[in-house]
Amino acid sequence: MSDALDRLDLLDLDDDLDDEDRLLRDTVRKFADDRLRPHIRQWFEDGELPARDLAREFGELGVLGMHLSGYGCQGAKPSQYGLVCAEIEAVDSGLRSLVSVQGSLAMYAIHAFGSEEQKQHWLPRMATGEAVGCFGLTEPDSGSDPGSMRTRARRDGTDWVLSGTKMWITNGSIADVAVVWARTDDGVRGFLVEKGTPGYSAQDVHHKLSLRASVTSELILDDVRLPESAMLPAARGLRGPLSCLTEARFGIVWGVTGSARDALASALEYAGTRSQFGKPIAGFQLTQKKLADLAVCLQQMQLTARRLGELKDSGRIAPHHVSFGKFANVRGALDICREARSILGGSGITTEYPVLRHAVNLETVYTYEGTHEVHTLVLGQQLTGLDAFR
Ligand SMILES: Cc1cc2nc3c(=O)[nH]c(=O)nc-3n(C[C@H](O)[C@H](O)[C@H](O)COP(=O)(O)OP(=O)(O)OC[C@H]3O[C@@H](n4cnc5c(N)ncnc54)[C@H](O)[C@@H]3O)c2cc1C
Repeated sequence: MSDALDRLDLLDLDDDLDDEDRLLRDTVRKFADDRLRPHIRQWFEDGELPARDLAREFGELGVLGMHLSGYGCQGAKPSQYGLVCAEIEAVDSGLRSLVSVQGSLAMYAIHAFGSEEQKQHWLPRMATGEAVGCFGLTEPDSGSDPGSMRTRARRDGTDWVLSGTKMWITNGSIADVAVVWARTDDGVRGFLVEKGTPGYSAQDVHHKLSLRASVTSELILDDVRLPESAMLPAARGLRGPLSCLTEARFGIVWGVTGSARDALASALEYAGTRSQFGKPIAGFQLTQKKLADLAVCLQQMQLTARRLGELKDSGRIAPHHVSFGKFANVRGALDICREARSILGGSGITTEYPVLRHAVNLETVYTYEGTHEVHTLVLGQQLTGLDAFR
């Protein structure tokens, strides 16, 4: 596969990695190839993931919340976190989701908006993977429009009492702590709900055709009583959860370059070994056109990810930059996986090859963290100055 990866780097982007970035990239790629890749087919087919074990191993690798600083986190550059996301998603988007939700949604929310006590209590254990977090924003009747959320937190003395339902929550049933967003008389606020709190439960979503190697749950909050200290003091209004989503989308922009690269490398290798009409199918002009189109698309995605990395490393990134990246790169990754699948012919529809698995996973990635349509509207608003959301 490494030969195919080299051939796909038509613009020699790899040459630009410095020694530190290359070491990080290669370390995570080796972990992914040795520890994750041999099992992913089984995990996906069974819809079962040893998520708690993997969280600890990702913690040992140092990738959980790696772009945060202090509290046991690495303080790595955002672009380095991006490189890691690409290597993990080259195995499966579900595995990258485990890492993203832990680091960019749950840990980031506590890091950015938590009290000193909350940070000290949760972040070091989450960085090692000893504790797992999830992020509950979406509800059964509130997806693209989180302002319509129904989950409510009401005051009772100095306590808060939460009631409502959160839907499609990654890591939900395995999480030790859920970051739950709820409506209060004072606008939307965030709360840390610990596993085992009376009235709080999580049930897994089954029968998924996408992101099967990922835990997806419904969270039920039935008059969950929390002390004042469970509220994230610095998050006020929807800007809190939306800023967490911008963090996580940055990882997606990079991550999908990994799934697309893996699908295309698989198709390139297959095309060189599969013969029809007396020669390798790679020798047919129609196959070469597909490979050329897809390789150019992949490198453009990688350039977009790098540009976003530069912007974030230098503190200049804005939400519309991230929307550009998610819009362009997830669409590009889906296009690559679908066309790459055709190069594998019938073999492409099995799990023996990763291509269709990546494609169906990317259907989720197209929808979560802001749907493709929502990011279209963000770009439309940036271009025209007009809000077309409602
Ligand atoms: C596997 C998986 C894991 C997830 N993990 C998490 C998680 O950890 N935490 C969490 O909080 N959420 C999570 N989500 C939820 C995800 O973010 C939502 O599914 C997403 O925001 C879309 O919401 P929805 O599914 O309710 O679709 P809807 O919002 O109902 O959208 C349906 C369709 O209508 C379109 N649409 C909506 N509004 C407009 C508009 N104004 N203009 C044009 N088109 C519009 C959408 O783009 C989409 O095509 C996850 C989802 C999945 C599938």
